[in-house]
Amino acid sequence: MRPTIGVFGSANLDHVVRVRSAPRLGETITGRSYEKVVGGKGANQALAAARAGADVRMVGAVGDDDGGLAIRSVLNRGGVDTSGLATKPGPSGTAHITVDENGDNSIVVVPGANAEVRSLTDAHRAALAGCDTVLLQLELPIRAVVEAARYAHGAGVRVVLTPAPVVPLSADQVALADVLVLNEHESAELSGVAEPRAAAQALVVMGVGVVVVTLGERGSLCVAAGADEVVEEPALPVRAVDTTAAGDTFAGCLAVALAEGQDLRAATHWATCAAALSVQRVGASPSMPDRAEIERLAG
Ligand code: ADP
Repeated sequence: MRPTIGVFGSANLDHVVRVRSAPRLGETITGRSYEKVVGGKGANQALAAARAGADVRMVGAVGDDDGGLAIRSVLNRGGVDTSGLATKPGPSGTAHITVDENGDNSIVVVPGANAEVRSLTDAHRAALAGCDTVLLQLELPIRAVVEAARYAHGAGVRVVLTPAPVVPLSADQVALADVLVLNEHESAELSGVAEPRAAAQALVVMGVGVVVVTLGERGSLCVAAGADEVVEEPALPVRAVDTTAAGDTFAGCLAVALAEGQDLRAATHWATCAAALSVQRVGASPSMPDRAEIERLAG
């Protein structure tokens, strides 16, 4: 069964500049290279889920600029249906990223058209209805994201939320998520509990069905409502060259595996294999593995 996954989220054009070291205040420096790549957590998760074998609908907005055309074209080439991606007057969302020779970065995000997705419209509802799962993040206006979660929840569509960038959410809002996929920092911020295992348990108590905390090269842990056991999944011991979008690859692939009916342990293993493949290659969406690669590694 090929699942249908809706992504209600951000799409950006990332402007990536590589430098020896980041400029100090007031300083002008010469960069080593410049590259434009499609990014945004929504677009990244959409591309990851499509490569992993789902039918994916991207719902959100781009601007009426060249960036908007580029974003749409990359998503389409990745097999993502962009008929739910509106074109708004003005610029697309952009991220301006400086990466130094140690791989450390500094990023300025200008939301552009993403900020125009202020509330859930009938067109959004129509695009999300009939999906098995909706993937949400917090790079669109929070009101619209909460409305989408509430709509999907009511319509029986599984809600998979990555609360990034993390903002305070009420327990009622957190409880709209069937599955929370978040990193250590986000789990601490959202729950107010520093230790990841206890944080995941606190989020389950708020009403979430399944909480998956990703721990970078230490893997991930999952807590499910009604189960005493904490499922721990180690990361694969690989040589990571670029961990950009590892979390988005993990979330997109986890959503596909769960929608296909894999149990939590198997789905987490699948997502871990996908993320391990992605960190061994440079770039965000270009590094995401396809289904055959994930299957070969997951066994
Ligand atoms: P985020 O990018 O959202 O902060 P993480 O860094 O926790 O997310 O990474 C998500 C997942 O990607 C991890 O749970 C792990 O499975 C995989 N991963 C991340 N970094 C590495 C690494 N260095 N080696 C192997 N797998 C990794």
